[in-house]
Amino acid sequence: MTNTPAAATVAPRIQTFSARLSEKQIYNDIYTLYHFELSAPPRIAFTAGQYVLLTVPGTPYRRSYSIASEPDLEHAIELLVDLRPQGEATRYLGGLELGAEIEFMGPVGSFTVPRLDSVLGQEESELWFVATGSGIAPFRSMIEDLLVDDADTRPITLVWGLRHAEHQFWYDEFTQLAEQHANFTFRPMLSQPPANWPLDSGRVTDVLLAHEFADISKTGFFLCGGSSMIEDSKAILLKRGVEEKHIHLEKFF
Ligand SMILES: Cc1cc2nc3c(=O)[nH]c(=O)nc-3n(C[C@H](O)[C@H](O)[C@H](O)COP(=O)(O)OP(=O)(O)OC[C@H]3O[C@@H](n4cnc5c(N)ncnc54)[C@H](O)[C@@H]3O)c2cc1C
Repeated sequence: MTNTPAAATVAPRIQTFSARLSEKQIYNDIYTLYHFELSAPPRIAFTAGQYVLLTVPGTPYRRSYSIASEPDLEHAIELLVDLRPQGEATRYLGGLELGAEIEFMGPVGSFTVPRLDSVLGQEESELWFVATGSGIAPFRSMIEDLLVDDADTRPITLVWGLRHAEHQFWYDEFTQLAEQHANFTFRPMLSQPPANWPLDSGRVTDVLLAHEFADISKTGFFLCGGSSMIEDSKAILLKRGVEEKHIHLEKFF
């Protein structure tokens, strides 16, 4: 058919979804993982790193949450939420019971890994992911997508900062990925470690300051979390000669 209007054949990129909370994993008093099975439409297509806009019922607000699950899941999304702010959205999510229906719009955002067939993708022969707290959410999706789905062979490093040991989660998952993929390095950090903590302690910025990169100018940096960590990290990287186009940012607050 030659006379079909384009609008009738091209699906809108951003859609409104309804979904049902089918599983909730309370990791500790801060972080909870929500698993939402999509009701309508039943599938979502997104690029790892994108986020959704959650409707907070009874309010005019929508809040952004990075999709923490892999794009291959399609029939569901997982959101990792830091429940501390206790504003409209986190109060709503904190009280959400299994079976509850939510509404969100998405996918949105351009915090994604440049495709390997793009100029930027070809320039970034090594990838560094740097997160604090819930900033890990999009990286779980991006790193699993790169390693498992794309079989990307570039060196990939994840540096993830939390404050206290009791707030750790996903360590087994990332450690297992590192065991299975020789090109992946997982560096968890605690800024306030207990005595005799065997792993790295300090801030993620300490690693960016001290690490001897193979070629920092060919490394793509992905920074996600609070704005102070992101500003400090970006300043360090610019000072070390990284071009701004290789510093990819997602500020949560
Ligand atoms: C692109 C994007 C993606 C995001 N993805 C996630 C995600 O995957 N997981 C997640 O937990 N949050 C994420 N956020 C933050 C989220 O959108 C909300 O801002 C947060 O959940 C607080 O919402 P609220 O309505 O409860 O409180 P609000 O009324 O929005 O905020 C209350 C106060 O808390 C501050 N605040 C917001 N988040 C934090 C935090 N984590 N730690 C400390 N202070 C904070 C705000 O700046 C504000 O001062 C994302 C934000 C953006 C912009």
